Amino acid sequence: MKLRNMKYLILTVFLFLEFSACKSLKKGWDNLNLFPVSQDVELGKQVYGEIIANEKDFPKLPESGNEELYKYINAIVQKILLTGKVDYAKDFPWKITIINDPKTQNAFATPGGYIFIYTGLLKFLDSEDQLAGVLGHEIAHAANRHSTKQLTKIVGLQVLADAALGNKETIKQVATALIGLSFSRAHETQADTFSVIYLCQTDYNANGASGFFKKIKGQGSQPSWLSTHPNPANRIESIDGKQKAMGCKGNQSYEKAYAKMKALLDKINPPILPEEKTIPNTNANSTKKESKTPPPDTTVQNKNKVLTKPK
Ligand SMILES: [Zn+2]
Repeated sequence: MKLRNMKYLILTVFLFLEFSACKSLKKGWDNLNLFPVSQDVELGKQVYGEIIANEKDFPKLPESGNEELYKYINAIVQKILLTGKVDYAKDFPWKITIINDPKTQNAFATPGGYIFIYTGLLKFLDSEDQLAGVLGHEIAHAANRHSTKQLTKIVGLQVLADAALGNKETIKQVATALIGLSFSRAHETQADTFSVIYLCQTDYNANGASGFFKKIKGQGSQPSWLSTHPNPANRIESIDGKQKAMGCKGNQSYEKAYAKMKALLDKINPPILPEEKTIPNTNANSTKKESKTPPPDTTVQNKNKVLTKPK
């Protein structure tokens, strides 16, 4: 080998190593979590309390009188938790809350497994496997502790130490910091992947989560949240690809059962919401139409902007 070629080889190896190092550093950074698991539950409880107390922005659909609806969704959550693939399946409360807002197609999870789902999203979806896919995605955010991983990156060490010591005031402040926090693209992709991993153990179509994105894509308009989230087309491809790669055998969509659940929803009177409630955020530049279709995301961030709204 000539010296010149050798130089190129060394340069290539160096660049490769550097690239790999950056990649693994980035990965390590994404996965670093300085919060103990118990604080995921503690923070989740705090945020849950704030949301429940804010009836104006988060009109909770009461469990009383809607037992069948809650039972239906909880049964799907239990089916996912029983796959043996969900971390902290037995440690987190995994509490479902339905928000009675037919204009918002969204779902999100707090740390520790408090999951919120909007009647607007339940109405938007067509089948149980799609809902299971969305729930799997939310469960994955909590089980993979994405919120406290994000928090680890933004709060100072002193705050972390105080929170670890159980300082209630600090925990409250951290819970507030959680509001407005968004997941990284890597975490979104990971939640999509885990949704498939979970559903692959059930009789559902394991790519249920891609159903939501296919529907959004079919609508034609491109929601503003695309700017901060992985592209829906890529997500469909990645979710469907994972299902194929894993050789998942499930093929049930339970459309009839889902239609029955939707008929229950139709009987529920929607609350009279202030007009601005139908513009749930995402982006200052978003149009009204766009903001009606936020992602089945995932952090509290979409709704949090409503929470922190100055009035
Ligand atoms: Zn998400």
